Amino acid sequence: MEKILKGYVFRLYPTKEQAILIEKSIGCSRFIYNYFLDISKEEKINAYNYIKKLPELINEYLWLKEVDSCLLRCSIFNLDNAYQKYFKEKKGLPKFKSKTRSRQSYRTNNITSNYKEKTYNSIELDLNKKIIKLPKLKEVAIKGYRNLKQINGKIINATVYKEANKYYVSVCVEEYINQPIITPKTIIGLDLGIKNLVITSDGKVYDNQKYIQKYEKKIKGLQKWLSRSQKGSKNREKIRLKLARVYQKLRNARKYLIHQISKEITEENDIIVAEKLKINQMVKNSHLSKQIYDASWQELIRCISYKSKWKNKKFYQIDTSYPSSQICSHCGYKNKELKNLKIREWECPKCQNKNERDLNASINIMNEGLKQYMDELQFN
Ligand SMILES: [Zn+2]
Repeated sequence: MEKILKGYVFRLYPTKEQAILIEKSIGCSRFIYNYFLDISKEEKINAYNYIKKLPELINEYLWLKEVDSCLLRCSIFNLDNAYQKYFKEKKGLPKFKSKTRSRQSYRTNNITSNYKEKTYNSIELDLNKKIIKLPKLKEVAIKGYRNLKQINGKIINATVYKEANKYYVSVCVEEYINQPIITPKTIIGLDLGIKNLVITSDGKVYDNQKYIQKYEKKIKGLQKWLSRSQKGSKNREKIRLKLARVYQKLRNARKYLIHQISKEITEENDIIVAEKLKINQMVKNSHLSKQIYDASWQELIRCISYKSKWKNKKFYQIDTSYPSSQICSHCGYKNKELKNLKIREWECPKCQNKNERDLNASINIMNEGLKQYMDELQFN
């Protein structure tokens, strides 16, 4: 059976003492990250060599002893991951973590130990009692997943984070996929667009304008207020917090919508085909609604990818070099004029079929995915 990683996010309700310890843990995690980021400018990143330096560092900065030692190691691994990502994608060198980031976090791994024939975990979830056991913090009250009685898998790690003055924990669990193998009967192509979030090859449109408009207005308004407020004033802090809350609401609305769309698409279809995302093209634009789109596409592809896996469905991503919007899905004629994004509808000069840009592209994407699937069948 195949294993997958699944994330569960719970709201945390720490006591006063626990909240203080969480703040300290976040601070220590940031300190370690920044300390070794500084070292990495002179001494090439090597997580294991860095970890060897930890005991010495703890002796120098005694307050590091107050927190879970595992999170200090995790912080080094986080830095290492940031570097690996940079080496792979050639963009975004790891940056120093600042206290003013809207999301502050630390991660700790679940450590399993055996003692007198009993197994102990450093992280434990009890969904009946609504508590999570975390190193040093002990039992913290949680809320979330009301209908979930039990998690069937091994906890790998937990990330505790603070956002808009609230605490959360994201628990990463390794689960086995337990789904029958199916012979695909249905296929769908997805075109990700600006006008609509997704158009499917059977003509379904998924739109995300409504919530974007709702929050974009609020965010713009608050940003104006913030720029007019006096630096260092209490009022400014208030607006800043309000803005953080609106951003959080926007993210939650997006997550919920994308969860619904990806659920529907992976339930109704056996083979799902989409285009690969052009990463470099996506990050550059600073316009708000564009940012939201980029995040939505990434999130959608991520969700469809893992939900297909859970449900034993096939998911293909077509190379970006494939000219999905230039080909007539009816006869295969290639129309180079369609590089112009303004053309929404066109009549094929060869077969006279009237093509709607996004729908036509999604059908081409579907056909290209079908080709890949047939190739796979031949070689297996
Ligand atoms: Zn044609």
